[in-house]
Amino acid sequence: MTAAQVIDGKAFAAGLRARIAEAVPAFKAATSRAPGLAVVLVGDDPASAVYVGSKGKATVAAGMESFEYRLPATATQDEVEALLARLNADDAVDGILLQLPLPGHLDEQAAVATIDPDKDVDGLTPVSAGRLALGIAGMVPCTPYGCLLLLQDRLGDLSGKDAIVVGRSILVGKPMGQLLLGANATVTMAHSRTKNLPDLVRRADIVVAAVGRAEMVKGDWIKPGAIVIDVGINRLPPAEGAAKGRLVGDVDYDSAAAVADAITPVPGGVGPMTIACLLRNTLVAAHRRAGLADPEGF
Ligand code: NDP
Repeated sequence: MTAAQVIDGKAFAAGLRARIAEAVPAFKAATSRAPGLAVVLVGDDPASAVYVGSKGKATVAAGMESFEYRLPATATQDEVEALLARLNADDAVDGILLQLPLPGHLDEQAAVATIDPDKDVDGLTPVSAGRLALGIAGMVPCTPYGCLLLLQDRLGDLSGKDAIVVGRSILVGKPMGQLLLGANATVTMAHSRTKNLPDLVRRADIVVAAVGRAEMVKGDWIKPGAIVIDVGINRLPPAEGAAKGRLVGDVDYDSAAAVADAITPVPGGVGPMTIACLLRNTLVAAHRRAGLADPEGF
């Protein structure tokens, strides 16, 4: 039986995107141009091409300028970094997103580090990570920022809440921990070497699972009344006769929903927040670069 409220990330993200679109005309009026997002795709990975396509569409739908750059899978490190340097210098570009993963012969960290931190809408450069750790205004990775918005919408003030983040990746877990700490939660960071994980999760008012292991976090790990944010996207093997397996998160949804106060579904929970927060970051970066105050309410 499902007791938990379902946190509708799709609806929340749609609302956020609508508010972003409403804020664009004022920026245009002040600067005579639209905020611009450049997305760089290296190689021809089909999943990455789909992500890049949907980011471009969402950018245009918000009234922003979308620039798409494709380099062949054989591109050299110098070619990738030269393109990023060109975009750093391009005034029409407020945000730069280098679609990851890059082909194996390229050095991802070195490429990301060449992005101007003020245009780093993915929040992945060392400067952005440093600013987040120091509590200085900067660009915050989109997925954990989306999780924070969902949590604040549900709980309001997070001060003093016990939070656990399962996963410590650069993309999700680590910045999530920093954001929760910045919001005055008491944060436990768990990872593959953590001992007694179920007991640690049982203490938490807020559980963020970003592990990449299908349905790993079980309902009997969840404290009754906790809020569960499931970042994971995992495809199960197809059932007999089916072309594709079901998408599930890192949380065993049914058992967790029976005890939690609220939980994000997969799909339709955290996923839609990522692109909405990319647009939010682009809008904020555009304002800062133009010397305008941050747009209100984002
Ligand atoms: P990574 O593989 O980079 O990191 C996984 C983390 O989980 C690591 O820190 C790892 O620990 C930890 N971990 C692995 N196994 C265990 C375990 N048994 N117990 C505890 N911790 C464990 O993944 P990402 O952070 O990039 O992504 C996590 C999930 O989120 C994936 O399913 C991904 O598809 C999804 N995702 C969803 C997004 C969205 O928009 N909704 C965006 C980004 C990711 P260690 O460091 O010790 O190895």
